[in-house]
Amino acid sequence: MVAVVVPDLVRLQNTVERIFRRELARSLFPERVPVQSFNVSLGRPLAKQGMVATALTLLSVGRSVDFVTLSYLLRSPWLAGGADEANSRAQLESWLRRQNIREITLSSLLKMCRKQGGGNNSFVQFITLLDNDNKKSRNQSLVKWGDQFNQLLNQLGWPGDRSLTSDDYQALSAWRDKLVPALAALNVVHGDTNRTTALTMLRKLAAEQLFQPKAQDDRLHVTGILETAGLHFDAIWVTGLTDQTLPGQVQHNPFIPTMVQRHYQMPHSSIQHEHHYAQLTIDRLSCSAAQVVLSHPAGDGVVSFSPSQFIPVGIHCLSSQQHDELTTLRGDDRGAVVTLESLSDEVGCELALTDQPYEVAGGTSVLKDQALCPFRAYAHHQLKVRALETPQTGIDNRVRGDLIHKVCERFWGEVTTHRQLCAMTDDELLQCIKQLTDEVLDQARLNDQAKELLSIERTRLTALLFEWISCFERQRQPFSVVAVEQRQQVQVGPLLLTAVPDRVDCLDGQSGCVVIDYKSGMVKNSDLIGDSLLEPQLPIYALKGLEQHKQQIVAVVFAQIRSGECAFKGVAADDDVMPLVKSVAKSAAVKRGIDDWPALLDDWDRQLDQLAHDFSNAQAKVNPVARSACQFCDLARLCRIAECEEGC
Ligand code: SF4
Repeated sequence: MVAVVVPDLVRLQNTVERIFRRELARSLFPERVPVQSFNVSLGRPLAKQGMVATALTLLSVGRSVDFVTLSYLLRSPWLAGGADEANSRAQLESWLRRQNIREITLSSLLKMCRKQGGGNNSFVQFITLLDNDNKKSRNQSLVKWGDQFNQLLNQLGWPGDRSLTSDDYQALSAWRDKLVPALAALNVVHGDTNRTTALTMLRKLAAEQLFQPKAQDDRLHVTGILETAGLHFDAIWVTGLTDQTLPGQVQHNPFIPTMVQRHYQMPHSSIQHEHHYAQLTIDRLSCSAAQVVLSHPAGDGVVSFSPSQFIPVGIHCLSSQQHDELTTLRGDDRGAVVTLESLSDEVGCELALTDQPYEVAGGTSVLKDQALCPFRAYAHHQLKVRALETPQTGIDNRVRGDLIHKVCERFWGEVTTHRQLCAMTDDELLQCIKQLTDEVLDQARLNDQAKELLSIERTRLTALLFEWISCFERQRQPFSVVAVEQRQQVQVGPLLLTAVPDRVDCLDGQSGCVVIDYKSGMVKNSDLIGDSLLEPQLPIYALKGLEQHKQQIVAVVFAQIRSGECAFKGVAADDDVMPLVKSVAKSAAVKRGIDDWPALLDDWDRQLDQLAHDFSNAQAKVNPVARSACQFCDLARLCRIAECEEGC
């Protein structure tokens, strides 16, 4: 029998269990040391046990269900069909996330499930049962509530149809033989009650009752210091023996006189007591096994720790630093050594290129992702991995951005020249924007909650676009709109991409066009003219869009449409093409030796070609151009950038 002693086990229980599971799962000999072969001496509230938590969640579903609960139930293995319908339930959950549903009535959920199809028969069945059960709520005794809860859970197929492990059986027994009878026993002191009260009492009992499954294999014990008293092991490893842990700190109980605490040698009453206790503890632990290892962390990343002064000379004491240096694992009884290898895997499967350009879905975002981080491009556009969406309160930023695009698209479809714009009075302009905003919002597919905010969004959007068009578009040199959201296929290196510039304006009286991209977020000029090209869409169009408009592109600009922060940002061939947009010669590109428009186009061409080749060669290194690139990336859990940085 082996023991691992963790002094602060109450606080660290979750972490310790996770580490043991992870390390045993990685074991070279799982048949000898199975994952469930350790036993933690502390119990957990029964309510936190997965099977019981699912039962309590199921019983607490009312006429409507919030998304967090719904998502939990869809993923729970403790329901009928949890295994068979796992894939279709995952698809249903993903679909519900995309609908941005934060709360839904059971009847609406049923309609959605049926509309979505996908073979979630058991799930549909138990939502129907839950919906019907809620209608039967009435006052009755706690005994009857206990029976009714059990009956409902049986009908719902709880605890699922997968075979139960030993821990599961013990949890099921704890529910049936202890928890529900404990609820029924309260009937003596409690009259008839409604469902909500009965369920609250059941929850309270489950939270108070500790559950500690008996391990199948109890060769490895994880315990606190006190629990080892009187026990003897074959080997013992004591962790965390820093000078902060032993001796403990003096902490007087504020409700008992200090003299009394000291007189009766109460814990933490004096430094003498703590020293005495530390010495006793170390002596006891040192004699509790034939093999003893005392260890301490070298630090917590900020503060360095020293070993406890009570660790006797002659006992092997290991610091976490020394432990990290042990890079080999003892392989078998004969002492063979297995060296762990590391594998650098930064290139994926190359695209199967032919003589023809390779058509890639995803538009110019392919190259944008490649510029921001090669792994991001590979995961998004080759592996097709996306994080699940999280339902938002109200209208999320992406939808807001879409609404701006749609209203602008309609506006510039009607008002096609600067002259026409200037001929409109403020009132006419406002009315026009209002009307277009109404049309766009009426057609927008928003969830019920977002629809409640429509009037606020209508006012906000109208005011924002009025500010933008009257203060910025009107102040420009005369222009004519020649393209709005026009799709065009462009070849970049070996790739064929679809570019959709938001707008192209032809400058009246000058030779040249301006490409405009609407942005509802903040944008930086450096994303276009810095060392790395991070916004490739506009440069792609500047380079490849010439054939269509027969005129040279002389400026690429972002229309930053944000309340109070509206601005044109970008770069132009000459000054005065767009308000406050600098020419290349006066821009920061000069620092990179680029001082005119043709040189900038050449630089963009080179960078775009490189990005396209990197993508086709499946360069997939986790290498964000800057840490800020990860801020709005959905792949952090997949690429594990945080762990990479910790390991560096
Ligand atoms: S989170 Fe950062 S490192 Fe990870 S894929 Fe996204 S951009 Fe790259």
